[in-house]
Amino acid sequence: MAAGLPATERFRAYGPRHLDDIAARFGVPDQIRETVRRLSLVLPFRVNEYVLTHLVDWDRVPDDPLFQLTFPQHGMLDAADEEQLGKLSEDPGDRLLLRDLVRDIRARLNPHPSGQQQYNVPHHEGTALPGLQHKYHETVLYFPGQGQTCHAYCTYCFRWAQFVGDADLRFAAPDPTGLLAYLAAHPEVSDVLITGGDPMVMSTERLRRHVEPLLGIESVATVRIGTKSVAYWPQRFTTDQDADDVLRLFEQVVAAGKQLAVMAHFSHPRELETAPARHALQRIRATGAVVYCQAPLIAHVNDDPATWSTLWRTELAAGAVPYYLFVERDTGPHEYFKVPLA
Ligand code: SF4
Repeated sequence: MAAGLPATERFRAYGPRHLDDIAARFGVPDQIRETVRRLSLVLPFRVNEYVLTHLVDWDRVPDDPLFQLTFPQHGMLDAADEEQLGKLSEDPGDRLLLRDLVRDIRARLNPHPSGQQQYNVPHHEGTALPGLQHKYHETVLYFPGQGQTCHAYCTYCFRWAQFVGDADLRFAAPDPTGLLAYLAAHPEVSDVLITGGDPMVMSTERLRRHVEPLLGIESVATVRIGTKSVAYWPQRFTTDQDADDVLRLFEQVVAAGKQLAVMAHFSHPRELETAPARHALQRIRATGAVVYCQAPLIAHVNDDPATWSTLWRTELAAGAVPYYLFVERDTGPHEYFKVPLA
């Protein structure tokens, strides 16, 4: 039971209001803490106990790749914006100006790259389905409303707009009704990618409500789950209260004759090197699911050949398949193209 686990094995998320505690606990210099505080006014910031104690190497901060991956960094915003954020946030009288500045900076950060909101949202019987994206012929992306957060946030995330509390920017479906109607009208769709955020933040019972209805649809051959939980919270598959239940759900998908593809997101080899992550992968694979791996090329995190070589070897050794590498385009912030690996 989760209540009997040591503190490091229970899920606990930390955000901007915990920054001072994190800095004091791990000896983060004041200047770095202040940078993170300013940037997290604009960009979502979230870590958890596992990321802090198993992944970040605090002796190497700020250069540590896992610190770079999860703590917003100097240089991610214009210097003038960063300075202005500092000024306005120090004066409680400037709250409205601060709010407007944050909104303005976010609008310039390309909240919906590649025209996602404009071109990819499908319609059914004349109604837009805002919790879906249909970009590739055979694949529909499905964003269940309760899965639109993550166990920690990546600093480069192109889905950052899902996490800033602006309903106009967010993709989210309250339930699978729209998805099911769309699939019935589009038998050419063979793959459903349940994505977010991270669908694995949902309890198994919640996840089941989104997955089970797909099992009776003949035209759906593959259920994909996009997740970074093995990297950021592998306990989801090992010691969480409903960890066994989620594995039984995975087995149910496979028994229904569907391919279950766990699209795992690993950005750096260290994420796969911990005992909990290895154990999680073992348990997931034992259900009959196939684990495919994907990640973007990220400055200061994995932008050297040796890191990729180690990452792919570590993935293969764990029985997972390196699948996609994402590379940022020069057409705007958070615009990526995919390089298939398998
Ligand atoms: S886990 Fe995925 S969706 Fe969540 S912050 Fe990282 S890149 Fe974004």
